[in-house]
This record gives sequence, structure tokens and C-alpha cells, in this order.
Amino acid sequence: MQLEAQDTPAQIPKTRAHLKSEAGTSTHPSRLTSAKTNSLSHMNRASDSGLNLKVLVVGGAGYIGSHTVYELIRNGHQVVVYDNLSSGHQSAVPEQAGFYLGDILDEHQLEQVLAQESASRPFDVAMHFAAKLIVPESVTQPLRYYHNNVEGLRVMLSALVAGGVRNIVFSSTAAVYGSTTGGECHEDDRTIPINPYGETKLAAERMIAWTAQAHGLNYAILRYFNVAGADTSLQIGLNKDQLTHLVPLIMQAALGQREKLEIFGRDYNTPDGTCIRDYVHVTDLAQAHVMAGEYIVKNERPLLCNLGSGRGFSVREVVEEALSMFSFRYAYAPRRCGDPAKLIANIERARHLLGWQPQRNLQTILQSDYDYRRRLISGQEPASQ
Ligand code: UDP
Repeated sequence: MQLEAQDTPAQIPKTRAHLKSEAGTSTHPSRLTSAKTNSLSHMNRASDSGLNLKVLVVGGAGYIGSHTVYELIRNGHQVVVYDNLSSGHQSAVPEQAGFYLGDILDEHQLEQVLAQESASRPFDVAMHFAAKLIVPESVTQPLRYYHNNVEGLRVMLSALVAGGVRNIVFSSTAAVYGSTTGGECHEDDRTIPINPYGETKLAAERMIAWTAQAHGLNYAILRYFNVAGADTSLQIGLNKDQLTHLVPLIMQAALGQREKLEIFGRDYNTPDGTCIRDYVHVTDLAQAHVMAGEYIVKNERPLLCNLGSGRGFSVREVVEEALSMFSFRYAYAPRRCGDPAKLIANIERARHLLGWQPQRNLQTILQSDYDYRRRLISGQEPASQ
């Protein structure tokens, strides 16, 4: 039995086991329609590239994945999301995108989705966002990170090879560089991760490169620096119970959801003693994914590039910028495990090869995250899972 996209909004199962039981004896994956319609009114302008790609977005209900889905659709591409909703939200998937509830570790289901979708039109590109990404968590639970980030990718690559998908865009991270000496990271720098998160992403990068060589794939590896902010629609943003990143934690303090912000460490080898990072707006990052997907399809060659703003701000500077916009309390606390002192992107390669240039500054990042979080509090968005 071939399952079709459902005509009426589905009651969304929370787990694959639930999906199976609802589907009775069928083992075919269901393409589900959004429970809450999240329609993008200004969508479907044609891409500047002139391409119309069909893109599988694995992890497309999560933070960066959903912003990329928005930008893909805004650029006239066709999108199908595959996500287990472990940290994502189905409400983050716009109604213009197809949606399958499934786990990246479930090779059988991934293969079925690829086969089922290919019957109407094969995927041109697959994008991978289904990873665990919290540095301190990776230090305490390294095996979970290897399982999800390395084994999960192996499963996905195996399904892509079997399904004939030839282009993959992969979310990597500045954490692959480890402790840099100068602070500015260039793609050709040595990669010596200092935490399990960075190690798993580096292993994943290498797995992609070897698989690409063996099976004739094109790939884009995108090394993110510190991603924050929310889409201008405020329909999507970073929506999680357990927030660990600096910008949303500042906003929680500013919105009275936490007593104060703690600054982790003031004795690093930096001018003010706090860690320096490169903050990039999630929409800028998402647009880079669209460009990277188009680039590898057009040029049939691999791409590895940093995505950041090219500017570093210390934690103290971010706090000061935020204090000029909002009021909140802060205090210094001990260092956090696994934090390198300084990570700043050299973004010349993305500028040169993709023509990409981040458009949104730190103030826009802070304001959009604040606005999104205020919207969550006012109950216009479903609560975190
Ligand atoms: N940070 C902090 N207080 C917090 C959260 C983060 O001082 O409540 C610091 C953290 O130690 C690091 C920087 O902010 O130096 C960025 O951390 P984040 O978790 O946002 O991203 P990461 O660089 O770890 O990916």
C-alpha cells in the first residue's frame, strides 16, 4: 500500500512507535500534513539561481533546519522534512513542506521515504540537521553524541547512496577547530577538537568525504559559528526547554524567566577575560544553506566553508550590547567545561564561492531572539516538548 499525503490535518503522532500502531500492519512511512498550519505568505519567489530543487531536510523541524526550510521555500524550492521531533516541533514546518515523522537512525524508514518520494520526483539534495549540539552535554554523554552524530550520519548516507541522492549539505561546526592559537579560523587550519561534540562532527565530515569519493557524491560541509536569532515572521526560533546558549539565556533573564545570566569564566586569555565567539543570525545561515545546495548541484564539486559573521564579540561585550537594549542581572561564574577561549570565522571562502554575505548584526540577533521569546511567553506558539 502506498500512503499518500493526507488531505486533512493529521493528529501528529509523537513517536514512531505510535505512528506504527496507528498505521496498523503497514510499514510504509506516512507523509503527514501540518497539525497547525504555518503558512508562509511571502513565499515561492523564484530562486536567483534559476534552479528548482527537491530537497530532503533531515532534522527540518529543529531550529536551524526549520529556518533553512523557510529559506528554501522562499527561494522556490520543493521541501520534504524528515524529523523525529525529539527536539523539533511540527508547528515549525510550514504547510508548503512535506513532513515525515522518522528517526535518522532508522535506515529502513529513510530508504522507504526516499523510494516513495522518488516515485513522483527524486530528491536533488539532502540536508542534514539531525544532530546533538550541546558542548557541555557532549562532555558528560560522549557515547550519545557518537551514536546520534556519527552513526546517525552513517545511516543517512547509506540510505542516500542506496536511494541515488547525489548531493548532501551537512551542518558542521567551529568546534572541529578546537583551541585556535590566533582565534580566527580558516578552513585549512588544523582540526583538533577539544570536546566530543567537535570530535563527532569532524568524524562525520571525514565520513562524508570518503563516501563522496567512493560513491560519486557532491557535498557541502558548513562549519557554523554561534548561531542565534529568529525569523522575521517570529513563527520559528530556538524553542527548547533546556536552553544552554548565551543569547537565549540573556533573553530569558531580560524577560524575567531566570534570575540572572551567569558569565562562565573571566580568566581566559582574551582582552576582558571572557570567551570570544562569532555570532551569526540564523536567517543568514539558512540562506547560506540554500546557496550551498545550489552551488554543489550547479558546479558538481565539493565545498567546505565557515559560516559566521567574521567578527568576534566577548561574552562581556554581548552582555553589554544586550544591556543597552534590555535590562537584566548578571554575575560571573566559573569556567564551563569544554569552552575554547576564542573562535572567530574567516568567511572569505563563503563570500567568494557562494557570494554570501551576512546581512544581520548582533543587535538584530539579540532583538529577534527577544521578540520570539516574548511571543512564546504570550502563548502564541505551542509550548516546548
Ligand atoms: N556562556 C556564558 N553563560 C551562559 C551561556 C554561555 O557565559 O549562560 C558563554 C559560554 O561559556 C561560551 C559563550 O558564552 O563562552 C558561547 O556559548 P554558547 O553555549 O552560546 O555557544 P558555544 O560557543 O558553546 O557553541
